[in-house]
Amino acid sequence: MTTALSLDAVSRVHDGGLTALDSVSLTVPRGRFLAVMGASGSGKSTLLRCAAGLERPTSGTVRIGDTDLGRLKPAALTRLRRDRIGFVFQSLNLVSSLDVRENVALPLLLAGARDDGRALAGLAAVGLADRAGDRPGKLSGGQRQRVAVARALVTEPEVVFADEPTAALDPVTAAEVLNLLRRAVDEHGRTVVLVTHDPAAAAWADEAVFLHRGRITGALERPDAERVRAMFWSGAARRPAPAVAR
Ligand code: ADP
Ligand code: MG
Repeated sequence: MTTALSLDAVSRVHDGGLTALDSVSLTVPRGRFLAVMGASGSGKSTLLRCAAGLERPTSGTVRIGDTDLGRLKPAALTRLRRDRIGFVFQSLNLVSSLDVRENVALPLLLAGARDDGRALAGLAAVGLADRAGDRPGKLSGGQRQRVAVARALVTEPEVVFADEPTAALDPVTAAEVLNLLRRAVDEHGRTVVLVTHDPAAAAWADEAVFLHRGRITGALERPDAERVRAMFWSGAARRPAPAVAR
């Protein structure tokens, strides 16, 4: 097993003293789809930002592959994010002044590579090749998120991080976007970490872990929405698990 991402006792105390992450440990093997499930304010975005090198933990270790992010200087961390990580956020994903193809090509250009047809191929993979020349403003919300997924995948990153990418979408459109992440894992061996408050979204993952007040309180293999919902509401997700959830 090759590890794509590992967190070891990662804590994050925000200015003002609030502990948003409390000694979180988890390991994500390559080629796996992990959902981090939690209520609003449970620390999901903080977890994702620390895991992706957008924010420094207060303590603990984050590794992408074998690279300890805490040992990287700011410039090296920026390069790592650019070259080895893909991002999809809930909104504000795309540059409105660039057309769809240019948006997808952007990570390639930032990495000093050329758009050698990969942007268009990526757009074809999400079913939007015919919209390559349009500005994002002409697309629906679901189409824009599919473009954002294509952009996150275009550099073939080691880990794709998605923060509530379907929160603003209707269930059918959300399923289309989640299916793209699922296919990136199944067909291309990508590694995906999705944070969500939605049991239906978590059900697309290979594993769901539950976050409550900054702690991992449980985990489900091959989650389905019913079991995720049950775990979330039963209170099982509210008590610390006896052992660290992987
Ligand atoms: P989620 O994404 O699950 O809604 P967040 O990670 O955004 O949770 O937030 C977890 C907790 O940390 C919340 O109580 C939030 O108010 C707090 N928090 C998040 N970001 C900051 C920040 N930059 N400064 C201070 N507190 C923060
Ligand atoms: Mg959040």
